[in-house]
Amino acid sequence: MAKRTRIIEGTWNCTSCDTKGIPARHKLCPTCNNPRELTGKESEFDFGDVDAKSGKSLREGVTDSETLEVAAAGEDWFCAYCGAANRGDRPRCKQCSAERTDDAKAATSKDLDAPVVAPQPVAQPKKRMGAKGWLVLGVLFSCCFGSGVFSYWGSRTHEYPGEVTGTEWKRAVVQERFTAVAKTGWRDELRTTSPRMPVNGAGEVAGVANVRGCVSRQRGTRRVADGTERVCRTKSRRVACGSEEKCRRRDKGNGFVEEVCEDVTKYCNESYEDCQNETRYRTEPVYAQECTYDTYEWKQVDRRETSGTDDRPRWPELSVSGVDRLRREEHYSVHLRYEDDGTKEHVLEPKSEQEFVAWKKGQDARLTVTNLGKVEQVVPR
Ligand SMILES: [Zn+2]
Ligand SMILES: [Zn+2]
Repeated sequence: MAKRTRIIEGTWNCTSCDTKGIPARHKLCPTCNNPRELTGKESEFDFGDVDAKSGKSLREGVTDSETLEVAAAGEDWFCAYCGAANRGDRPRCKQCSAERTDDAKAATSKDLDAPVVAPQPVAQPKKRMGAKGWLVLGVLFSCCFGSGVFSYWGSRTHEYPGEVTGTEWKRAVVQERFTAVAKTGWRDELRTTSPRMPVNGAGEVAGVANVRGCVSRQRGTRRVADGTERVCRTKSRRVACGSEEKCRRRDKGNGFVEEVCEDVTKYCNESYEDCQNETRYRTEPVYAQECTYDTYEWKQVDRRETSGTDDRPRWPELSVSGVDRLRREEHYSVHLRYEDDGTKEHVLEPKSEQEFVAWKKGQDARLTVTNLGKVEQVVPR
């Protein structure tokens, strides 16, 4: 892959007489004879457009030996006395004959394009936050920040005077007996155990006895391998597909550019089938022995309920034999009324009798209510 080198000549504009597009070989304006200087952008050269794909200059290369010699003379220097641009290989100013001094400014040569790396790496799009990302952020901001302000407002409270309009209670006593029952269970989970009867409603063991009548029944399913199948997916890969010209340019610091072009391997995307043998699965039922067995469980044999309003709660009467146990249920409610943009009702549900009996019909109370209307606290007044 041979390299092809060309010299491209730039152009400059004279700020003294406004002549445009003066070839770089002229260090003096051909129209007004003023020297090119560092000031006024006179020494910023235009090298013309380049082909976007190859980076190749669209201008013709310099071929005459005289101009090529000017291009090869090195970086220009600017006279410290008169400011004129001079060839890099000249020790004296062409304009005023002053010697080149250490404080004379010089142009610098530099690469104009990033060097082309061959082979070209696969372009990996950078992960940037797109419109969608900003949208998500916006939604997050508006919902969370917004709800934060809203919940702050909602949690602000006010206090209102109220009154107890009535109290209610409901109580039940449930009588349960440890009773023999037949149940079914999976044979491998059944361990024969002797039952033990409760004493004063406690210390009982349900037991497992007389395991019998086992039948095979479906207990669940499982996944099993069922051979293999060929699965193909279309994938993409980069492959060499001929060559393409790539050029890079170097500003020589004297109005000329050195362009080096070479043919590099071109890469293209190619789709292909990626096939693999994959295990195929099916589900099959799993069977087990299900059996009947004898055991005991607590069963309700009786239930007595009482209720009342605006009075002291009491338990219903129920007498129990030694093998039975009693389970007690209780529910209390206190109805209140308070004024908050009109008359509001609130029902308090005390957890215990002790809490409940602290409330009487007609009693004054103080309610703490949030802006959203939630009653946070009720205390007697
Ligand atoms: Zn001029
Ligand atoms: Zn000079």
